[in-house]
Amino acid sequence: MQWSAMAWECSLLSDVPEAGLRWQPEPVPAPRWLAFHEALADELGLDQSPEALLICAGNQRLSADTAMVHLYAGHQFGHFNPSLGDGRALLLGEWVDAQGQRWDFQLKGSGRTPCSRQGDGRATVRSMLREYLISHAMHGLGIPTTRALAVVATGNLVQRDRIEPGAILLRLSHGLLRIGSLEYQAARSRPAVVQKLMRYVAERRGWFDEADDLPALFLRMMQEHAMRVAQWMAVGFIHGVLNTDNISLMGETMDYGPCAFLEHYDPSSVFSSIDRSGRYAYDQQPAVMAWNMGCLARALAVATGTTMEPWYEMRSSWTTMYRDAWQVCMRAKLGLTTAMEGDERLIEDYLLLLQQASVDWTLGWRYLAESLHQTNMTHAQLFGSRCAELEQWLERWRQRCRAEAGMASTIVTTMQQNNPARIPRNHHVEQVLLQAEHGETEPFFSLFRALTQPYVEDAEAIRWQQPADRSFTEQYMTFCGT
Ligand code: AMP
Ligand code: MG
Repeated sequence: MQWSAMAWECSLLSDVPEAGLRWQPEPVPAPRWLAFHEALADELGLDQSPEALLICAGNQRLSADTAMVHLYAGHQFGHFNPSLGDGRALLLGEWVDAQGQRWDFQLKGSGRTPCSRQGDGRATVRSMLREYLISHAMHGLGIPTTRALAVVATGNLVQRDRIEPGAILLRLSHGLLRIGSLEYQAARSRPAVVQKLMRYVAERRGWFDEADDLPALFLRMMQEHAMRVAQWMAVGFIHGVLNTDNISLMGETMDYGPCAFLEHYDPSSVFSSIDRSGRYAYDQQPAVMAWNMGCLARALAVATGTTMEPWYEMRSSWTTMYRDAWQVCMRAKLGLTTAMEGDERLIEDYLLLLQQASVDWTLGWRYLAESLHQTNMTHAQLFGSRCAELEQWLERWRQRCRAEAGMASTIVTTMQQNNPARIPRNHHVEQVLLQAEHGETEPFFSLFRALTQPYVEDAEAIRWQQPADRSFTEQYMTFCGT
């Protein structure tokens, strides 16, 4: 479909005018496709025409006047900033596909906006290709996320630590509202606007029964976030900057600036260069999301004119919600689909073994299935001198598997569907991004393809399964890329 022929809307601005400002992207000198996700485009019936390139670059306006900058606030590393907003992003418009699904089309890196503050409104090739790669890897892993449709080189240079080529990302989302969107309105004492935003989210998510019931919506959102964090923990994803302006009200994983993946299992792993205190370390993610739910609760208390008491009371169910979600994910990694007494202990004990032996998170789980009947050498070697302890644990796990209603083959299948063979390993991501920045894009797309079906064994993708050297991981740092 021609982009100009699409029926663009901006229901957010018409339903909640306080949520944004009309704005347009700044044109760029030399737009050129760097990446275009054909499968996603096909799913939506979109074309990759010269016109699409100009629209993604910000050099041509959409047929309707729908573009807007979204206003939001946020708790950044615990400190409240009442005015953040889209400083380098721009909602082009909303589009309803043939299935009736509404999509936000948002540019990132499309130029300065009224929210840019000191920033240049631009983004680098490296950071936009990074988001493109990792958002699709997350989708491949089965984790709800914003999804990039395209990356366009701009022909501009961008000053960061060094001078880098600039790019714009087009990402699609079921709705780009964040906890910070509510905090922005709550800080301006606009209870009715917070209520309207919540209704908007409920309608876009299809939570019609709860649409006018803020406590019920709050519980629903907490449940969603509990599952999201549990899914991150299960694949070893470290978001890196879980500020409330980066937490989607739709429950999508978003903003991939400083994220990273676990290599060897060290629960205190943190890679972001700006996270000096480890606030957003791997094992802090559940607690930090609970803290963020407290921020959401505060905005809802403003919306309802109530005290915090009932909201905190509701928030206390987070612990159980998260534990349940985590157990579902972790049991599945063990091949188990039923819940039994002692499962939590069994999971915890395997985690302890992985940690004590510094085992690669992804391989430690992926190879476990092969030890279902008798200890597999490749698996055992990961545990080095802790082999005897592993053997004892395996015996307990095999016994638990025998109590499972399913047959051994179902257990193995469940494990293969929940323990990826491949994740975006940090050293591979950095290597292919650097090559792509210099025009060599084959490795980038090879890794990209390998990550779209991460649960399937693929001989050609073996090169992307290799863990990093320990020394690489120990000094590895990620940057926001702002
Ligand atoms: P982030 O850390 O990417 O979540 O961004 C935090 C805030 O800084 C948001 O309001 C962004 O829009 C803004 N921001 C980040 N990078 C830039 C940039 N290069 N130019 C303008 N604003 C930016
Ligand atoms: Mg952000």
